[in-house]
Amino acid sequence: MSAVRPEIATVLNKAASTHTLSKDEIVALLGTEDEETRSALFRAADETRARYLGDAVHLRAIIEFSSHCVRNCLYCGLRRDNRRLDRFRMRPGEIFEAARRARAEGYRTIVLQSGEDPHYEVDALAGLIRRLKSELDVAVTLSLGDMTRETYRLLRAAGADRYLLKHETADPALFARLRPGTMLSERLKRLVWLREAGYQVGGGNLVGLPGQSLGSLAADLLVLKRYQVHMAGIGPFIPNPDTPLAGSPPGSPALTLKVLAVTRLLLPRVHLPATTAVSVLHPEGRQLALRCGANVVMPDLTPDPYCRHYDIYPGKARLGSEGPNSFAWWEKELARLGRQVGKGRGHGWEAGR
Ligand code: SAM
Ligand code: SF4
Repeated sequence: MSAVRPEIATVLNKAASTHTLSKDEIVALLGTEDEETRSALFRAADETRARYLGDAVHLRAIIEFSSHCVRNCLYCGLRRDNRRLDRFRMRPGEIFEAARRARAEGYRTIVLQSGEDPHYEVDALAGLIRRLKSELDVAVTLSLGDMTRETYRLLRAAGADRYLLKHETADPALFARLRPGTMLSERLKRLVWLREAGYQVGGGNLVGLPGQSLGSLAADLLVLKRYQVHMAGIGPFIPNPDTPLAGSPPGSPALTLKVLAVTRLLLPRVHLPATTAVSVLHPEGRQLALRCGANVVMPDLTPDPYCRHYDIYPGKARLGSEGPNSFAWWEKELARLGRQVGKGRGHGWEAGR
């Protein structure tokens, strides 16, 4: 660490030993551009991941089952006003079949994600979750957006284990602008509801949103720390040509990796996915993320032809269901990286493993 500026080395040592940092200290780490400091940050994050969680990487199969959405988030291709999107809804039986195939490949967690789509009644979702739990013996993660407290409770009672609800940005004004009709405080309140309902809770944010500063990113990480999330989905913003943010530049993969690394230092036990979005911007993005703190990969198991139409951002649908989306591919790839597939269902820190 000899070439690292002494004040930055002090911050890094503090982060690695106490897992706490002030907002200014986080900004200082995120703002460092020199190679030595970046390497030292990534090394510290990698060591923290190895010390607290070992070398296991949890593979979670994500099934994106509906591209209909009542919301109008400015960054997202599924937004209500995007008339160019060819929308789909999978039937519960089709979702179950996709999950059964994922389980047969080796996946032990099924992540069900969709736009906010009131078409699916709570009873139908609860029935699907019960069937997944009883017939497949998998952990079930939901990522269905904002719902009522009662709905969260009912889905938890049906057996859902985890819920992923990214706060997206901790800047209240930016949040309100990018997610019309919603407020940051309402989103954060839901993280509390979810925890109270007994879920392992996932938060997270986008990196590189137009109007987002390093200070605002530091606030994101402090939110994740304050809410003691079990998982943190952090990925770069990728502009979608069919959204109002079409002309905005994408988030930087380099900054995303730094944000991941600092998150690992602040939350040593958190489950941190190497996101698909980072691999869209950089061919080795997920592998790089796994070297600076990440310990989860979420391959897309949405069946054809649906997977081609869940167009949140460009490039995502092209990944297909072969290669980097198959369990066998990741087993080999992880061995190449000196890691191995996590055994069991890969629960969060409080729930045991
Ligand atoms: N509707 C649910 C919600 O918003 O929580 C879940 C589905 S939503 C498509 C899943 C995630 O996609 C969001 O949390 C957001 O961070 C991410 N996302 C949306 N648009 C994106 C973009 N243009 N670039 C990168 N990620 C994006
Ligand atoms: Fe809908 Fe989620 Fe996209 Fe917002 S981010 S438009 S809630 S799918």
